[in-house]
Amino acid sequence: MCGIVGYVGNKQVVPLIIDGLRKLEYRGYDSAGIAVVDDDHHLSLRRAEGKLRNLEEAIRLNPLDGNYGIGHTRWATHGRPTEENAHPHRDQSGKVVVVHNGIIENYLTLKERLQAIGHTFNTETDTEVVAHLIGHYIDTEGLSLELAVRKTVKELKGNFCPVDHLGG
Ligand code: GLU
Repeated sequence: MCGIVGYVGNKQVVPLIIDGLRKLEYRGYDSAGIAVVDDDHHLSLRRAEGKLRNLEEAIRLNPLDGNYGIGHTRWATHGRPTEENAHPHRDQSGKVVVVHNGIIENYLTLKERLQAIGHTFNTETDTEVVAHLIGHYIDTEGLSLELAVRKTVKELKGNFCPVDHLGG
């Protein structure tokens, strides 16, 4: 279980996502994170271990802004409740980010497949492999983001809902 908020629009994206995560904090509170994209298509992430207020403090110390974004409060199933394991997770290129609710049962098989062709993983989660697989299909097969997401989702086994993306 987790909380997921996404926003595209004209309002201030960071406060809006944080406000949404606050309403969903009961769904997951071992860590939280946010990713936003600004006018220059620059993707920025902030993540923090523990309750949402720790993420708010991280943003206060190191502000970010953007036009659209996603946020997540985590209820860990795979990997310790650390900042490193907090969502969103990035692909190899750093252009795709994913937040995820649920479990990817076949993540180890997929991870080993990607490691064998040079992917480096930075977390203990099952989720990170989703970002890497999407990025892999964009980079190696020239697929659009949408087609890469569709192809990736077909390979996932388990329980999951939104697989989102950001980036230029
Ligand atoms: N399985 C993922 C993780 O452990 C997602 C957990 C959740 O739904 O919050 O990071």
